Amino acid sequence: MKASSLKVGVDVPWVTSWTGEPSLGVGPCPSVGGAPAILQAGNPGQGKPLYSQNHAVRQRLSVRDMLCPMCGRPTSAQDRWTQVAHPVAAGRLRADGRGNRLPTDLTDDAILVDAGAIAPLHRACVDRSLRYCPHLKADPHIDVRRFPERWIVLPLMARAEAAPQLFLARPTPARTAAVIGFLQLCGLTGERDPAWRGADR
Ligand SMILES: [Zn+2]
Repeated sequence: MKASSLKVGVDVPWVTSWTGEPSLGVGPCPSVGGAPAILQAGNPGQGKPLYSQNHAVRQRLSVRDMLCPMCGRPTSAQDRWTQVAHPVAAGRLRADGRGNRLPTDLTDDAILVDAGAIAPLHRACVDRSLRYCPHLKADPHIDVRRFPERWIVLPLMARAEAAPQLFLARPTPARTAAVIGFLQLCGLTGERDPAWRGADR
């Protein structure tokens, strides 16, 4: 595998996967406190960038430690911006089955800013990515706004095949277990949606 001339964090976002970073299956990962998670080799800059794929471990670290997905450096509370987050009522996430892990004292009409799997960026990194990335430039949903000072992290579960139990003489049915894939980030705006009347009414 050849080292790329593209520079990680400059030409290619820090969080992007490379062809030189194969999946390593499932195992305990320090990025989520040792919980079972999707693992991936860490060789950024090896091979070719896979722009549409976040690296499993770097993605989780970016959300856990508020690292800018573009440059990989920490963002401060004064310089945290999101390009794609959209406001959503907590009750909507719960109705869609994505809100099981929201704090129970968060009322259904509380407005969250759902950033999906994308941690906030530095303002300079937002501007640079909008200037150079043709995909972002053409996206009508781009809406640059400040990321709230408080947030919650929700694990996005993935299904993973359990390791085969080689010591058994006869085959057992394939078993699957839920493990952590990416982390989802929701900012807490402290605002309420006065129009919230329930998810399906
Ligand atoms: Zn940055």
